Amino acid sequence: MDIHDYAQINPPQRLLMGPGPINADPRVLRAMSSQLVGQYDPAMTHYMNEVMALYRALFRTENRWTMLIDGTSRAGIEAVLVSSIRPGDKVLVPVYGRFGHLLCEIARRCRAEVHIIEVPWGEVFTPDQIEDAIKRVRPRLLLTVQGDTSTTMLQPLEQLGAICKQYGVLFYTDATASFAGNPLETDAWGLDAVSVGMQKCLGGPSGTSPITLSPQMEAVIRRRKCVEAGIRTEAHQDGEDEMIWSNYFDLGMIMDYWGPERLNHHTEATSALFGARECARLILQEGLDNTIARHQLHGEAMLHGIQAMGLEIFGDVKNKMSNVLGVIIPDGINGDRVRKLMLDDFGIEIGTSFGPLHGKVWRIGTMGYNARKDCVMQTLTALEAVLHHLGFRSPQGAALQAAWDRYGNGSH
Ligand SMILES: *Cc1c(COP(=O)(O)O)cnc(C)c1O
Repeated sequence: MDIHDYAQINPPQRLLMGPGPINADPRVLRAMSSQLVGQYDPAMTHYMNEVMALYRALFRTENRWTMLIDGTSRAGIEAVLVSSIRPGDKVLVPVYGRFGHLLCEIARRCRAEVHIIEVPWGEVFTPDQIEDAIKRVRPRLLLTVQGDTSTTMLQPLEQLGAICKQYGVLFYTDATASFAGNPLETDAWGLDAVSVGMQKCLGGPSGTSPITLSPQMEAVIRRRKCVEAGIRTEAHQDGEDEMIWSNYFDLGMIMDYWGPERLNHHTEATSALFGARECARLILQEGLDNTIARHQLHGEAMLHGIQAMGLEIFGDVKNKMSNVLGVIIPDGINGDRVRKLMLDDFGIEIGTSFGPLHGKVWRIGTMGYNARKDCVMQTLTALEAVLHHLGFRSPQGAALQAAWDRYGNGSH
């Protein structure tokens, strides 16, 4: 190896219009390039407390335990599941896409008894379907995905909290893809735990995962920590609570690090925390409702533009996330060829799909920093040109006109 062959990192300029990651807001990148401070510097612990307050506002919760898990979104998911699921616990997972299967897989590693209900990809569950399954299975936890990027669907959650409460079920959702682009009300909807990630509507790079835990969830986790610390002596009636097998994802220890005890655990990923703080600050300055409305506006403009091109949308449009669109690849068109031309000739990335949708559906995102009019217009222009180039005939200019119509005369 000759070190002189290695140039300084200088990635190509891309417009990331896939299902995530997306381009980070430059202000977030600037925050992340700030110099480090010590782990227990008063400035650092102050920033940690600020991050807790900022994310409480974004999660719409009073939950004390609202903090970051170092690692990508999957780290947040795993921390919640590993810390709350005891071996043998029954969990119910409504699966409507790839990320539901991920929850099952992690729950099985936690040695849960995993029960699944499924709907075809492109659909979501009714509250009745979930309630019926809860009555039948009697799970300890309900594990849901709010927005499954693999299908672009948004599972309605607002009625599930009351059902969970009635049957004594802990209620978790992975809101990574939907958060800040679609409404989520942690307290009003009765959620016990929510985890998200940075690289979707929050507008940052992946690498840290904000989570929030209800007091009930905290109690469940603390009980397991007590076993480890040898504080609790009698066995519980409903079975011995085993110690959490992961040190890194032990939320009891992570709470003691983020709380006033400041017990040393990991070294908080400082630059990632600076980025997460800036993402939240920018959204709250815009106003969370305005951020959600912005995702709706640009998502709809993209949708109208795509439809005007004569392309079909995948899945039930009325249950779609605002920020990702599944576009059915027309007959006779090679989906990967289109993506390559978009990338090579326009510098625009759109997404492919997984599993049963691979080769059949593109996924186009309008999220975070890229939920903007110019990004929508550029993507529609490029896609129309590429499709035309490959022989797909659509009325030229119709996509842009339809998007403009959605925007109206005002400027957005
Ligand atoms: C994108 C996405 C993730 C991503 O997880 P990472 O660990 O950040 O790659 C998780 N869950 C859902 C629903 C997603 O859409």
